[in-house]
Amino acid sequence: MADYQLIYNCPGCGKPSHTPEGAMTNGCEYCGLIVRIGAPGRVLKYFYPSRVDSYGARMAADRFLKSKGLPLTGKIIKKEFFYLPFYRFRGMALDYLTPETQIVEAVDEMPIPVKAKHKLKAKDFDVTVPAFDPGEFRLSSLGVRPQSVPLYAFSREEIPEDTVIVKSDISPQVAEDRAMKLHNSNIKLYNKTSPLFSAMIGEQISMIYFPVWVITHENGSDSRIVFVDALAKRGYNQAEGPFEFDNRGLDDENSHFINPLKHQCPNCGADLDQQHFSLFYPCKNCDRSFILEGEGYTQVKYLTAETSLCAPYWRFPLELKWKRLYKTVDEFSNLLTGEITLLRKEKRGKQFYLYCPAFKVSSARRLTDKALMLLRTQPHDKLIDCLPEQGPVLSIDEDEARQMAVFLWRIMIVKNARLTRKEFRIEEGNLPEGEIVWLPMQDFQLIGKAISYREVNMVGK
Ligand SMILES: [Zn+2]
Ligand SMILES: [Zn+2]
Repeated sequence: MADYQLIYNCPGCGKPSHTPEGAMTNGCEYCGLIVRIGAPGRVLKYFYPSRVDSYGARMAADRFLKSKGLPLTGKIIKKEFFYLPFYRFRGMALDYLTPETQIVEAVDEMPIPVKAKHKLKAKDFDVTVPAFDPGEFRLSSLGVRPQSVPLYAFSREEIPEDTVIVKSDISPQVAEDRAMKLHNSNIKLYNKTSPLFSAMIGEQISMIYFPVWVITHENGSDSRIVFVDALAKRGYNQAEGPFEFDNRGLDDENSHFINPLKHQCPNCGADLDQQHFSLFYPCKNCDRSFILEGEGYTQVKYLTAETSLCAPYWRFPLELKWKRLYKTVDEFSNLLTGEITLLRKEKRGKQFYLYCPAFKVSSARRLTDKALMLLRTQPHDKLIDCLPEQGPVLSIDEDEARQMAVFLWRIMIVKNARLTRKEFRIEEGNLPEGEIVWLPMQDFQLIGKAISYREVNMVGK
C-alpha cells in the first residue's frame, strides 16, 4: 500500500532496490537478498536527488529573476549545491483534552456553567521541522510533500564532491519538542482547549535532505544570490549577496547514513524473513525470536492465545501501594470504581496489566479505544508458547508502548479524585519490563484498518 518509496543500492547485487519508506527489512527485487535497513529510534538520512545541474539551476535562476522584473544573472560568481536537513516526525498523537466549561444559559440572570467532558483525541501526525537556520537559506518548510517523491538512501560516496551537506544544528529531541509545540497549538486552535496530557506513539523520525542550488552573480558593483529548489527546478527566493555559509552543527550524533546489512539470526546465522514494518523476527532454524533494537537484535519471549487470528500487544504488570498493595484484577477493580466492571470470577485473582497495542492501525482513535477496552476487561485467554498463525505484525516498540500505557493509565485515574495522589501516579521509567502477548482479534473492522494502514503487514497467509 506504500505510495512512496525508498531506493537503496542492494549490497548483494549493487542494483537500485525499492522499498517502502520507513521499512525495517526488505528483500531485493533482483537478487532476493534480505537486508535490514532501520531500527526503532534510529534516525536515518534520506535524500531527494537533484533534478537539475548547475547549468539548469542558472536557467531557473534567470526565469525567477525575470518573473520579479530583476536583471538576469550575467556574470556568475559562485554556483553552490547544498543539501538542507529536515527532521520528519510521524506517529499517532494522543491528547487528553481539558474540559472546556461553557456558559450555555442563564436562569434568573445567574449563568449556569455546563460541564463539558474530558475528550480523547487521537490523530495521525506528520510534521517536518528544519534542522538548520532557515533564515540563511530563505526556506522554512520542505518544498514537497514527503510522500510524493521517492527518497534515496545515498551513501557518502555517491554524493557529488562539491556538495555541501548542511549539518543539522538541533538534536532530534529539540526538533521533537518543536513538533509537539506545533501540534499542541493546532490542538488548541481546533478544540479551543489545551491537552491535559499527551503522548506520541509509533513514532518514526527521519532526516530528509532537500537539494538547493545557490547562484551568486554580479549585480552592478554588488552581488545578488538566487536560491533554486533543485527538485522543482525553480527559483524560490533572492537576496543581496554575498552568500557566506558556515557549515557548523552537531550532525554526526543526530542521524545516520542508511547501511543495508544482511538480515540474519544473531544466534545461528540463518536468514530471517522480510516483513517491511515488523520489529519482531522469529528464526525458523533455531526457534528463537528477536526484535530489532539499535543496530542489533534482542531475543524476546512471547505468549500467544490459541486462536488462529491474533494481534500483538505489550503488557506491563502493575503494582501500586497506598495503605495496601494493589496487584490483582480484583484489587484494581476496587480502586478504579466504575471503570472495571462485571469481572468473571476466574479473572479476579490474576495479575493486573496495562495493555498497549503493538500494531499500527489507520485509525489512532480505534487503536486507543481497543487498548482502553483491554485495560477495562483484563483478558484472561489461555496463552501458550507458540508463534501466532495470522495477524498484524508487531511494529510498536516497548518504549513507545510504555508511553501509551502511562497515557491510558492517566485517563483511568483522572476522573477519580482520590486517585490523583502521588502513590497512584506512574512514570514510564518505573513500569516493569513489558511482555509480548498475541491476543485473539475478533474485531474485523480493526483488522481491516490494520491491513489498510500503510505501515502494517500481516503475518501468515
Ligand atoms: Zn540485490
Ligand atoms: Zn537462528
